[in-house]
Order: sequence, then C-alpha cells, then structure tokens
Amino acid sequence: MRNFKKTMPKKIWVNGRLVDPRRPAVSVFDRGFLYGDGVYETIRVYDGKPFQLEPHFQRLARSLRGIGMRVPFGRAVLGDAVASVMAANRLADGVVRLTVTRGEGALGFDPASCRRPTVVLLAVPFASHPAVHYEKGVRAVFVRLRRNAKNALDPSIKSLNNLNNILAKMESMKKGGQEALMLNQEGYLTEGTISNIFFISGGVLKTPSLDCGLLDGVTRSVVLSLAKRRSLAVWEGRCRPRHLFSAEEVFLTSTTLEVMPVTSVVDEQGRLRRIGSGQVGEWSGRLLRDYRRLITKATGKKFKI
Ligand code: PMP
Repeated sequence: MRNFKKTMPKKIWVNGRLVDPRRPAVSVFDRGFLYGDGVYETIRVYDGKPFQLEPHFQRLARSLRGIGMRVPFGRAVLGDAVASVMAANRLADGVVRLTVTRGEGALGFDPASCRRPTVVLLAVPFASHPAVHYEKGVRAVFVRLRRNAKNALDPSIKSLNNLNNILAKMESMKKGGQEALMLNQEGYLTEGTISNIFFISGGVLKTPSLDCGLLDGVTRSVVLSLAKRRSLAVWEGRCRPRHLFSAEEVFLTSTTLEVMPVTSVVDEQGRLRRIGSGQVGEWSGRLLRDYRRLITKATGKKFKI
C-alpha cells in the first residue's frame, strides 16, 4: 500500500481520548519511538464485533508482564476503546492496532523517569488478501535470518521491536515469497513474520511447539481446537525444514490471514519446492471454512466460502 495516507483514520484513541491523528499525539521522547520499548496487539473486527478479544487482551497482559509492565487501563476501558475507535472511523470491518509503550522518559535505557504508559488504538479498514491466495495458495521462503532467540528477546512477547521480522520479510520479498519462514538458533522451524506455520504429515496436523521460540498465536490456538473437534490428530514439537518439504499440506495462521494455504516453499538454498500436489489441500480448506464458521457464530459476519 504505497499511499497509506488515503486510509488515514479520522480519529485515533490516545490514553483515553479520541483525537485527530494529524496532530502529534505521542512525544518524541516516547520509549516506543526511541527504543521500541513496548508491546502491541492486532485485533480483527468483523461486522462491528471484535473476534477473540479476550485472548488478545490476555496476551497483551502477558507481553506487558514480560517487559515488567502492567496493563495500564482496565479490561472494560480497553474493550470500550476498541468499539469507540471503530465507531469514530465509521468502520464495521477492520483491524484495530493496540499499542502500549513505557511512555515518555529521559534519554537512556533506565526507565525510572517513565511516569505514564502511552496507549494508542488505531482502527483501519481491513485490506483483504487477494482471493487467489486462498484459491491457489502462497509461496513461503526459508530465510537465512534466524528468529530472535528465546533467551534474548523472547518471541512470545509481542514487542514493538519488530526488526527481526521486518528484515526477514524483506529477504523473503526479494526471493519472491509472500511470507518468510524463520528457524531458531538450533535450526528448528519457528514461525512466519506475521503468522504461525502448520503442516499435515501422515494425516497428522503438526506445528512447532511454543518452546521453539515463537508467538503463541491466537489463531494458532483456535485452529488447534478446531482440528481436535474434527478428530484430526495434532502434534506440537520440533520441526526441521525437510519435514515441511515432504508434507501433504502447509498453511499459515494469523488474525488477518485467518488460514492461508502455502503451496510452494523456497528452501535455504533457493530451490523451489512444491508442497503435496501443488494445490490447496483438503484440510487447509476445511479448517479455513471451520474458522470462518466460528467467526460467523461469534460476530454474525457472513462469508462467501
Ligand atoms: N507470529 C508472529 C511473529 C506474528 O506477528 C503474528 C501476528 N500477531 C502471529 C504469529 C500470529 O498471531 P495471531 O494469530 O495472534 O495473529
């Protein structure tokens, strides 16, 4: 999206107030701006109703705990904030980005001078992914860049420090992929830059376990429970890239992608590898439909497929 200003929200929510986004709302001394010192959530709203709001708030609390902070507003205030920022922008289908930083403070890493966290909510229209991606699947690229180590900057904290993901995304785009796949320091599969990865192998649904160092995706949890409801065997553990190459199906999950099939993968040597038959697999389609059925049940939103 080159001209992102066209989608500039009318109002943004900053520390309890709806304000004009063209006016500076956050200090240049804000630690989020200076150091990426904060965390965030991306919440999908369908037909005016947020989906999986509770798990997003729970993860926000875990991320904040992970950086030694607490949720600065009560659950009810944040719930109202999501609704009011959507309404103020006359949006029914959209994405709410909720950012919490350690706030304004003196230069330097010592956070002692930070008095008040900064909380910003942005609501933007949902930019839907091309239908062809769901019909034909996307290409994922194994990038050389490794995922942040769990004992350095734990990927289970959804932090504002996104350079690891951004550099991986840039590498994958250069290599012609829609998503990057990152390995950890031991060479085990972790996740994509904005998504979790799943594959079907021998009729079993497999995904890297959380101890590999990855974000505990809200969609990942939903899909795991949908699979169990379908009596599809589920396995979480340590996966090597070759396990993906020989898989019957591969797909990505995220709040915005929902369930996105992957039909080809570029390996670390730059070789293109077709997944299964090269077509969208049965389980990928079934789980996407199940996921959307759940959205319809929770929000009333209707889908074509
Ligand atoms: N991994 C990373 C690194 C992400 O940024 C995201 C998007 N939040 C995900 C996985 C998927 O998480 P969720 O299903 O909660 O959107």
